Amino acid sequence: MLEFVFSISPMRVLFGAGSRHRLEEELNSLGVGRALLVADPAHQRLARELAAQLGARCVGIFDGVVQHVPIEVAEAGRAKVRELQADCCVTIGGGSATGLGKAIAMEIALPLVAVPTTYAGSEMTPIWGLTEGGLKRTGRDPRVQPRVTLYDPELTVTLPPAVAGPSGMNAIAHCVEALYAQNANPIMSLLAEEGVRALAEALPQVMAAPDDLDNHGKALYGAWLAGVVLGSVGMALHHKLCHVLGGTFNTSHADTHALILPYASAYNMEAAPDAKRRLTAALGTSQVAPALRELSLSVGAPATLKELGLSTADLKTAAELATRAPYYNPREVTRDGVHQLLLDAYHGEMPEA
Ligand code: NAD
Repeated sequence: MLEFVFSISPMRVLFGAGSRHRLEEELNSLGVGRALLVADPAHQRLARELAAQLGARCVGIFDGVVQHVPIEVAEAGRAKVRELQADCCVTIGGGSATGLGKAIAMEIALPLVAVPTTYAGSEMTPIWGLTEGGLKRTGRDPRVQPRVTLYDPELTVTLPPAVAGPSGMNAIAHCVEALYAQNANPIMSLLAEEGVRALAEALPQVMAAPDDLDNHGKALYGAWLAGVVLGSVGMALHHKLCHVLGGTFNTSHADTHALILPYASAYNMEAAPDAKRRLTAALGTSQVAPALRELSLSVGAPATLKELGLSTADLKTAAELATRAPYYNPREVTRDGVHQLLLDAYHGEMPEA
């Protein structure tokens, strides 16, 4: 029997090549007039261009973005907003820039406008993250959800392939886990299936023709859908494992997702028949986990956990940590099962369908 709860945060999205140039009209619609631009190091020139377009509506540029939002950086950003009496933050960059904007909005009531430049999807979620004393805390708070997002495929053209490929696989992982989420619902499942379809088609094209704007548009469209489902339904074993590996062994966020996804999918697929049916349709094969593995390798993701710097002893620790306080998962999560999953990923075995 179909049974679900559906809710979605209000959000406004302007999608298209050149959409960044519509920033000023969006600030007008929000009724704000003193924007602080929060831009990552790769986007200082873009920030200056947007500041010039905004004129007096821009009160400054904050360039201190650091991955995983260290608390000191969040405090510095908040101090800048207070000093300049900003009434809005515009984030320009990947998940790290969006994350800093969120850390500011947690403490100071102001609207966020996001101009994303990767496929991370943070701009579609009410999820914040802060790192303090070497530990990353995350939580949900509707105040940190950006009010407006300008998705401009012209901005992802500069993504190096080594960042674009794994970042896209990270987005696919949000869609895969949304399909078997504890609180899955029909609308989010439609979006997740379409997100996998768009990204699986677009990512190899982005790798093959990195200057083609249409390919970037398709990949960014998939990433948008992935962000929406990430913000709306819960995640499962795959995200838990990536959280443990990143948090304990400091492995790169997107690379870890890209490597682990085929193995986590293989672990769960038989326990999630509706997800399998939708992924089969989206990927064009019922060999879901092998297809994800091939896609991941073809877009430049690392092939083994060994390459990410783990030892076989680390796998035991990771399996222990991942099963201590497990997230909901469609298949029972056992220490032996997770250890085997990690061993397969360590050796780069082809996962079973
Ligand atoms: P990132 O923002 O750290 O960017 C990675 C690197 O790519 C940086 O050096 C950046 O300067 C550069 N870069 C970004 N866009 C570029 C472009 N278009 N061209 C050239 N270089 C570019 O990486 P990310 O993967 O976007 O974000 C990762 C962070 O976001 C992690 O901290 C993760 O936990 C967080 N995240 C949060 C959520 C959420 O919902 N809260 C969702 C996804 C990710």
